[in-house]
Amino acid sequence: MIYNKDFSYSFDENKCKECGGKCCTGESGYIFLDDIELNNLAEFFKMQKDEFIKNYCIKIKNRYSLREKLYLDGYACIFFNEDEKNCGIYNLRPKQCRTFPFWEYFKKNVDEVKKECIGICF
Ligand code: SF4
Ligand code: SF4
Repeated sequence: MIYNKDFSYSFDENKCKECGGKCCTGESGYIFLDDIELNNLAEFFKMQKDEFIKNYCIKIKNRYSLREKLYLDGYACIFFNEDEKNCGIYNLRPKQCRTFPFWEYFKKNVDEVKKECIGICF
């Protein structure tokens, strides 16, 4: 169980095993990466950063977001492992993914995160 004193809920990470990756799939969305994350992933895939960006990212204003692929009736992150139903780059997943479900936005929108994530506990 993961607790965060700034949030009214805690998070049971064991639920990810039975969830099927709901936070990585569904509606289209952005998964932003910073420069360090881009460099680390490019190195992991033994690519130049530019090549990694070309293959796996889209540019949104002055930032990069991971590409998506079609999945079931919606979308999935390009790195969602469809067989295992989990993240294919787990140890290098962007901060945005690592900090879910403790996002500032959800502090005032608890019902939304509760609907999205079965690991939310009160
Ligand atoms: S939605 Fe919640 S339980 Fe499901 S994979 Fe994401 S973090 Fe884990
Ligand atoms: S990087 Fe991993 S955890 Fe983040 S959305 Fe993609 S598959 Fe999910």
